[in-house]
Amino acid sequence: MSFESLGLKAELLRAVGEQGYTEPTTIQEQAIPVILEGRDIMAGAQTGTGKTAGFTLPLLQRLGETQPAGDRRFVRALVLAPTRELAAQVGDSIETYGRHLPYRSAVIFGGVKINPQINKLRQGVDILIATPGRLLDHVQRGTLDLSRVEILVLDEADRMLDMGFIHDIKRIMKLLPGRENRQSLLFSATFPEAIRRLAQQFLDRPERVEVSPRNSTVDLIDQLAYPVDKHRKRELLSHLIGSAYWKQVLVFTRTKHGANRLTRQLVADGLSATAIHGNKSQAA
Ligand code: AMP
Repeated sequence: MSFESLGLKAELLRAVGEQGYTEPTTIQEQAIPVILEGRDIMAGAQTGTGKTAGFTLPLLQRLGETQPAGDRRFVRALVLAPTRELAAQVGDSIETYGRHLPYRSAVIFGGVKINPQINKLRQGVDILIATPGRLLDHVQRGTLDLSRVEILVLDEADRMLDMGFIHDIKRIMKLLPGRENRQSLLFSATFPEAIRRLAQQFLDRPERVEVSPRNSTVDLIDQLAYPVDKHRKRELLSHLIGSAYWKQVLVFTRTKHGANRLTRQLVADGLSATAIHGNKSQAA
């Protein structure tokens, strides 16, 4: 299967070619034609499957199929993402794939100054990528009008719910045209009951698209498991890091408290360690 056969236009095919992609991924093969038809979708796809291009490419194409009235720019496509990192990543994709098209995009997320974002919005954007909380800040300040949104994307919807964004999402939905008057695309790695309810409420007869997760590991990665008593895990970790001269180590812990404790213990063992988690400020 080629990108050409998916029905994408020349400007997009050129951008895809410049990225060096030769073939669409499974999710792209399945999602792109359905989105191009203007249908809603509910897609099961994890990060790494190529899902971002899977909605970004057809979204850019759809915007060229209608001509908005008037010369003022309104937000025509809105992508909601759970974190600033993901929002920035989607923003980069829009810029990359849309480089031969005339659309303007902006990324807005919390934790940074709001004024530069307000200025950007004032200049007019066609495609807005945002985290829910900061988006509502803008709405409250009157710097954002979402009443002309034609395409809505909920990216990593399960993570947005896990992060407690459900109320923000519901408030945002009230600011958009109704589901019959917009195209809605929902992407989620998992489909618990809460996501199905969300889909029922905000999607219009969605096509279900799913790719099986790629659970395989890259050949370059070795995986080892060490059976060890709970109270000796820290000791083993210090030993492994110290004896093998590991230079960069990423350790995941179950709790924030556990991350702090482990950090203190590793430092006491003479290693250089630091913790990052949600109780720390963005600056920290
Ligand atoms: P995503 O699942 O959207 O986070 O994408 C995972 C990675 O796959 C990104 O680094 C993309 O640049 C890359 N990618 C997306 N589509 C393709 C494709 N058709 N061929 C090769 N790589 C791709």
